[in-house]
Amino acid sequence: MARCLAFMLFLQLYCLVSTVGLPLPLEPAELLQLGSDVGGGRLSVDPADLREASGDFGGFTRAEPPLAVYHPRGAGDVAALVRAAYSRGDGLRVSARGHGHSISGQAQAPGGVVVDMSRHKAAARALPAYSSAVGGHYVDVWGGELWIDVLNWTLAHGGLAPRSWTDYLYLSVGGTLSNAGISGQAFHHGPQISNVYELDIVTGKGETVTCSATTNSDLFFGALGGLGQFGIITRARIALEPAPRKVRWIRALYSNFTEFTADQERLISQHGGRRFDYVEAFVVAAEGLINNWRSSFFSPQNPVKLSSLKQHTGVLYCLEVTKNYDDSTAATVDQEVDALLGDLNFLPGTVFTTDLPYVDFLDRVHKAELKLRSKGMWEVPHPWLNLFVPASRIADFDRGVFHGILGSRTSGGPILIYPMNKHKWDPMSSVVTPDEEVFYLVAFLRSALPGAAQTLDELARQNRQILDFCADTGIGAKQYLPNHKSQPSWEAHFGPERWARFASLKAKYDPRAMLATGQGIFPQPATDSAPLLSDS
Ligand code: FAD
Repeated sequence: MARCLAFMLFLQLYCLVSTVGLPLPLEPAELLQLGSDVGGGRLSVDPADLREASGDFGGFTRAEPPLAVYHPRGAGDVAALVRAAYSRGDGLRVSARGHGHSISGQAQAPGGVVVDMSRHKAAARALPAYSSAVGGHYVDVWGGELWIDVLNWTLAHGGLAPRSWTDYLYLSVGGTLSNAGISGQAFHHGPQISNVYELDIVTGKGETVTCSATTNSDLFFGALGGLGQFGIITRARIALEPAPRKVRWIRALYSNFTEFTADQERLISQHGGRRFDYVEAFVVAAEGLINNWRSSFFSPQNPVKLSSLKQHTGVLYCLEVTKNYDDSTAATVDQEVDALLGDLNFLPGTVFTTDLPYVDFLDRVHKAELKLRSKGMWEVPHPWLNLFVPASRIADFDRGVFHGILGSRTSGGPILIYPMNKHKWDPMSSVVTPDEEVFYLVAFLRSALPGAAQTLDELARQNRQILDFCADTGIGAKQYLPNHKSQPSWEAHFGPERWARFASLKAKYDPRAMLATGQGIFPQPATDSAPLLSDS
């Protein structure tokens, strides 16, 4: 039976790959229909699947659809598909798609196969376990698992939770580990890629390799932040900690950028018991607090007394911190928070606090998503720009961008700004950060809403102005979730040494440059992916 299924799968894949470049008597759709659902993975040419796989959250690149979408039922299926594509020898594109939350077509594979990672649910999930070697708990998860499902699973089995997060949990494990995975916990725990013990990866040759910091370490570190270039992550061993029950969530406003950044940097230098658990912030530009979709916190039940801020006409900055607690620490949380806030220089009378369950805090952006969806404001183009800016130049960035390029113009969405410590990032990973111990994430989370003052083109032009400003002033910023249009730009992004390492890993693990071609890093046959944005 197993041999028969394997043969069927082989036949199905053979038919699939044979349609690229070689004439066949049957249309691919007919072939795939015949061979569909062979017991292993399922190849789909359903137009709805193809349409979904040729778009993403960014919503402004229109790609030629893939030939098929592959729904694997486990790591073996992923390996079988990649092996078949590799053995074909002509670089058939294969892209893992986590949850399609990329901005610029990074998970697309025009004319190739998109592997839909996030719909497969493991029949039997692994339970969290304890390792004396690492001195803590971990859980093994499927690479396409969404972080929200990881959280719910680990909470239900031992009251545990991953240590490091993204702001939004409907992202896949493999997708965020291919970037870095950052949020307000990163200053202390490092990004998500610093909280992984082991990976299973299907390389571009279709080989399944287990890797860690000590075994096949070049692949392990290469894949972390590796933009999907060296293989498809099918299993990740994630570090866990006992989950706190509650969170004290605090926001405070600043008008003075120097005081704001000095306080943020002081907060992220605290690593003992006396520290906040999460440190982020956002810029309060022209739209004010109320139009900021991340600001549901400032709800009518908990209004911001903006009247007290009337004298501050310019840009404001909103610090956002949390302190975790549970039943045993509930009695002392007030004192601890007061002591920590006592050192800070925010505007008097602008502290806003709320208490909520830990899970609700972690899942906060999903609430905003549901609201935006109900108003038709979620599935719109998102010309996002994410930058890492060295701390020594963040004041120049503030002057040039928040007060200059943006000025009184609307930014089209929230602008996050928060610092991180480079020593919490492994220098061997593939992710590129500035050459300074402290650097800031500055994230322009823009939405091009129908009928809004600023069109998609205008927001994209603003992004280019910001990138040009960084280049012209030599600020040393690096793109996070990078998007570069040419190989020289990619080489400049990595710098000579890191580029050499990245390229040699590519040659070793994906020699036909078949994987994650939507990143546009290594040369591929021309695609029909056409940006909707104008070049001006
Ligand atoms: P996809 O977009 O599907 O894939 C991203 C890339 O990874 C593609 O190149 C793909 O081929 C590759 N890939 C996907 N799965 C695998 C795999 N299993 N193995 C190897 N390669 C794979 N990021 C943060 O760091 N912090 C945040 O707080 C944050 N918040 C966000 C909020 C929203 C609303 C959105 C839309 C995005 C946010 N992101 C954040 C960005 C997010 O990390 C990226 O979009 C990332 O790509 C994860 O999305 P995904 O799982 O849908 O991956």
